[in-house]
Amino acid sequence: MLQKTLSNHLTKKMKWKIPLFDLDYNKQEISAVTSVLKRRWLTMGEKVEEFESKFARFVKAKYAVALSSGTAALHLALKSLDVKAGDEVLVPSITFVASVNAVLYCGAKPVFVDSTSLNDFNISVTELEKKISSKTRGIIVVHYGGFLADMDKITRLARKYDLFVIEDSAHSIGTKSGSKMAGALGEIGCFSFFSNKNLATGEGGMAVTDNEKLAKRIRLMRSHGMTTPTWERFKAVAFDYDIVDLGYNYRMTEIGAALGLEQLKKLISNNRKRKALSKIYIDNLSGVEQILIPFKNHPGDSSHHLFAILLNKKIDREYFMQKLRQKGVQTSIHYLPVHKFSYHRKNYPQKPGSLPISEEIGKREVSLPLHPRMSTEDVLYICQQIKKLIGYL
Ligand SMILES: *Cc1c(COP(=O)(O)O)cnc(C)c1O
Repeated sequence: MLQKTLSNHLTKKMKWKIPLFDLDYNKQEISAVTSVLKRRWLTMGEKVEEFESKFARFVKAKYAVALSSGTAALHLALKSLDVKAGDEVLVPSITFVASVNAVLYCGAKPVFVDSTSLNDFNISVTELEKKISSKTRGIIVVHYGGFLADMDKITRLARKYDLFVIEDSAHSIGTKSGSKMAGALGEIGCFSFFSNKNLATGEGGMAVTDNEKLAKRIRLMRSHGMTTPTWERFKAVAFDYDIVDLGYNYRMTEIGAALGLEQLKKLISNNRKRKALSKIYIDNLSGVEQILIPFKNHPGDSSHHLFAILLNKKIDREYFMQKLRQKGVQTSIHYLPVHKFSYHRKNYPQKPGSLPISEEIGKREVSLPLHPRMSTEDVLYICQQIKKLIGYL
């Protein structure tokens, strides 16, 4: 039965008329990978170094450390700040589970904070302040869908209570904040290059910071706490090594870095395409009263990673998503609130109703396809199907 469901699902997936996301890969990516293979050095070499320095320049941070995933970046960011058992870290509940799990990996306690409103899913600054205790060490901010959180207020709050700010910038590659970039606004910024992100390498991540000590610590922990990396030994700069910290294997491959360099070149123009497509969605769905479009009047910049809508309470979301699937349109949910998952509920129970906005978003949100290879016609088709579906036309 399960097997059958799975294979049905796979066949359907192959037939999506408009998938939720798609890679923007072409000849450049293929030749970048081929040239790595020809050079016969597969991990942590010249390409990784080049990707780090170009990425640091892109986000206007002093240091960038390439890692195996966004989750690894979050883990090492917290580790480098000595987050440990007994500490509390403030986290949104409307996020990918990894933002919360990174806190758990350190033995610390995640304290869930509600979203601002149904129009702004980002962490609520008012709720943040209420949840600060003597054990609070810092805040993890997620710029939902790429939309910049209220960093002025958050940074001010952090300074007032002497807390660190880690930006989970998995959605917000390229989001601006005045002359600065998202990811370089707090102590450490964490990026993900997972397949469905704006910059995709399959798996991969980056931690960025202006703090030399933190950068060094993250760099060290990325590869077993080892003093001299393999690359240095290969270049015969060093022959022996010591282990000076408890580290991990969170290294990036040369193939990943080569893909990242190509993807970085396309990022600004692809984010622009995402913005234009989002505007077409807004223009065509704004009149539909059963649908609320969050962030429609958001004052800050966005990398437009997601296009989220909130369905009217009366609309059955399951039915809505099924119907769109029949029309070849893939949709998803961002997110089911983390505090409601079985594991997190069991280990970190919240008072019922204490995160009302997150729960409402979790019940009513639907993400529509958004990626740079979509056409205007694709968006118009989706909007038309939605309007038909809810009886607007
Ligand atoms: C994708 C994502 C992550 C995790 O990144 P990985 O590279 O998949 O480990 C963390 N936080 C958010 C908000 C994400 O969307």
